[in-house]
Amino acid sequence: MKIYDVVIIGAGSAGLMSAQLIAQKGFKVALIEQKKDLLDLPFSTLGSFMNVGEFGLSDKVIASKITTGDFHSRSVSFTKEAYNVNIIDKYQLHRELIDKCEANSVTIISGNRVRDIEIDQSGSISRIVTDTSQNFSGKLFIDCTGTSGLLSKKVGLQDKNPKIGVGVEYNVHYTGDPHKAIFFLGGDISGGYGWVFPLGKNRAIVGFATMDNSVRKDIDTAFKRVLENEHIRGDIKIDDRKKHGGTLPITDVKTQFVKSNLVCVGDSVSQYNPIVGEGYVFILDSATMASKAIIRSLESDNLEILHEYEKEWLEKYDSYYRYAKLLQRALVRATKRDLTADIGMFFLKTKSSETINKIISGRFGMKELLLP
Ligand SMILES: Cc1cc2nc3c(=O)[nH]c(=O)nc-3n(C[C@H](O)[C@H](O)[C@H](O)COP(=O)(O)OP(=O)(O)OC[C@H]3O[C@@H](n4cnc5c(N)ncnc54)[C@H](O)[C@@H]3O)c2cc1C
Repeated sequence: MKIYDVVIIGAGSAGLMSAQLIAQKGFKVALIEQKKDLLDLPFSTLGSFMNVGEFGLSDKVIASKITTGDFHSRSVSFTKEAYNVNIIDKYQLHRELIDKCEANSVTIISGNRVRDIEIDQSGSISRIVTDTSQNFSGKLFIDCTGTSGLLSKKVGLQDKNPKIGVGVEYNVHYTGDPHKAIFFLGGDISGGYGWVFPLGKNRAIVGFATMDNSVRKDIDTAFKRVLENEHIRGDIKIDDRKKHGGTLPITDVKTQFVKSNLVCVGDSVSQYNPIVGEGYVFILDSATMASKAIIRSLESDNLEILHEYEKEWLEKYDSYYRYAKLLQRALVRATKRDLTADIGMFFLKTKSSETINKIISGRFGMKELLLP
């Protein structure tokens, strides 16, 4: 059996960020990933309000900068300025985090799916076993398995069958404005919302997401309607039919991420912000908070210190997440009918660009909902 200070399961944004931060302090870290190739990613770009330097990333992770946003429902359309919004090159971001893991001697075990967990009488995880029958033990374990929530579900930190949203995307040839993001709500895509994220160099991501089960069953039809939307159809040409996408947790807001010697980060405990689907900035920040508490806990051999991560997260994000969840519920209802989608869009249209940016970035409260 291999013994580490910290065993991390899942090498997405949460796992990679945590691994390199903890290993930087000289701790022995194992990062176990089921995929053979860590850069085999389900989709390639992200819209984000992330300040990349804050997370030690280079400007190379920015694929393009967005300066305006267009919003359309059936009868309401408007344009607002966008501040600090970037389209992120996911490959480059993961590449940089993998490089940091390697530079800090993280042991990366790819092509191994964790299939079994052993919990001792005190409720602590003592070992995990992979499908190639490798055993790993550690003082601490981190669940970074995304929506599958391998350990978070097992110990009750995540719902057993969390509500899931689904998104699909194409990377298309694009002749529209390379600095304008476009959002669609209602109309012929009722039950979900669509977007265009320009990538520069005549490429863009066109996507559709839904949190409605009935739409999810026939997501291809809804996605086709986004691609044929009158506002963009003249600007896009589908020259690559590889469909990207994945699942999003849409559970109630979680506030407990620690149990005994287990710490959970990322989508495994729904840290993706509910409002427009931004996960990365919140997950990289949560991984930073978690790693700080983990390092302090290892240094003083005290598991209680792990709860400092929850405390810091609650202070910084709990209120934002609750408002975002409220608005997400309203959005899900609004998408179902043209009239409610129009009312939702009209509500946004009355807001200033500053307020819209705060709302879309998931950092807002009652003041932003009530005032222009
Ligand atoms: C269609 C779509 C569009 C999105 N758009 C955006 C966007 O524009 N901006 C944004 O910021 N966010 C976006 N998100 C959300 C963002 O992608 C997620 O919040 C983020 O990827 C979650 O990171 P994570 O590390 O928690 O989980 P993941 O990225 O899911 O990583 C989990 C890792 O764990 C591995 N794993 C799982 N189970 C096991 C196991 N048993 N053993 C070993 N390894 C395992 C998986 O293979 C995976 O590599 C989008 C999501 C979707 C689906």
